[in-house]
Amino acid sequence: MEEKLKILVIDDDEVDSMAVQQALTQAGIKMELSEVQDGNSAIAATSETSFDCILLDDNLIDDGWNLIQLLRAHAPVPVVVLLDSANEQIAVEIMKAGATDYIFKSRRSPEIIAQVLRHAVRVHRTQMQLVEAKQQLRETQELLTRQNQEIEAQRQLLELQNLKLVEASRIKSQFLATMSHELRTPMNAIIGFSQLLLRLKCGELSRQQIDMLERILKNGKNLLMLVNEILDFSRLEAGKLDIKPEIFDLAKVINAVVVEMRPLAEEKNLTLILKTELHNPLVFNDPTRVRQMLINLLSNAIKFTDCGKVEVSVKELPGNRVAIAVKDTGIGIAPSEIKSIFEAFRQVDQSTTRKYSGTGLGLPVVKALVQMMSGKIIVESKLNEGSIFQIELPRQISFRRGKQEVANHSESVKKNIKQYQTPRFAQKQMQF
Ligand code: ADP
Repeated sequence: MEEKLKILVIDDDEVDSMAVQQALTQAGIKMELSEVQDGNSAIAATSETSFDCILLDDNLIDDGWNLIQLLRAHAPVPVVVLLDSANEQIAVEIMKAGATDYIFKSRRSPEIIAQVLRHAVRVHRTQMQLVEAKQQLRETQELLTRQNQEIEAQRQLLELQNLKLVEASRIKSQFLATMSHELRTPMNAIIGFSQLLLRLKCGELSRQQIDMLERILKNGKNLLMLVNEILDFSRLEAGKLDIKPEIFDLAKVINAVVVEMRPLAEEKNLTLILKTELHNPLVFNDPTRVRQMLINLLSNAIKFTDCGKVEVSVKELPGNRVAIAVKDTGIGIAPSEIKSIFEAFRQVDQSTTRKYSGTGLGLPVVKALVQMMSGKIIVESKLNEGSIFQIELPRQISFRRGKQEVANHSESVKKNIKQYQTPRFAQKQMQF
């Protein structure tokens, strides 16, 4: 259904006005018609009513088309001018002054009036929609600009906070490194002197004194291990954890660690078993770091096992790899905790009253070392049943260093291999 248009006719000639009205009615335009006879009344009418179109007689716009501009400025309404003379030049001037369209009175017919009027309304509405869309676009752009400015401010704030965090973390690492380094010297003195005293001849020390010295030595060693863990962790954070690979007998290193740790297991009445299934025990890796990793896993296994056994096994894997596994019958780890135990300072029991001591840095360091050696660490655990920590490493690790260093190392590896080609080692040549 066609909508009813609100039309304002501005004409000081009643006959003309009637003629327009008749033509509009004949054209079948549904409308609500208002009529005024001069410009001031027209302005007043547009203030009160929102018209769809104004039909303006050109008799009223003799003074340089001012009225058109006034009307357009007052309300956004399409203005169609009825021109007395069929003069195209005047028509152009009228359009320039802001009219939407014009009709020559001489050619005025209901159809033409209806057509021009509907067209003017349509064009005007489209223009209005465009203006509205542009306005919305502008507003959206302003909003986006504001949001961008806010995001930028947030980003700068975050960057600043990040810088502060990095600095705080650097200071913390520096503090850890300095402290642990400083603590190592007196610890080594305590351990060294208590070992010296324990070597005194029988009878020079009473049983009680020997007991006390043994305790000093044991606690000193524990403390040194913790200090070393902290030092390694600070090196790891600073990217300074290094690996110095060489050819060595893996079975011997593992055996030595098990011998060293056996008293700890015996103290808790735990059975400590070592299973070695290596046809070729030689590997190219850092023996100190391998020892460190095994000590970490084995001391954890002993620490977190109250009864039963701890088993260390080493075997060959396909792809020229070796696997070192530490299995225990201890407290186990819940599946939800397994991932987080490799995070720094993370312990399943985080309470201050926890039963088991430790820094929570052993596993992160082991994981970092394993990764540096291009290996992997696998954990299987069942709560209250026990855990298996298995490290899988290439028999010969490759290490990322400066080109020259790698070249020098390759040379020394070749030399070492030759050195190992004695009759005994000839049968067990390394398969690098
Ligand atoms: P911590 O100094 O506490 O031993 P680690 O980084 O070596 O630190 O180990 C992190 C945590 O992982 C331990 O606190 C413990 O909760 C858990 N965990 C490690 N090894 C075992 C294990 N063999 N059995 C049970 N829990 C273990």
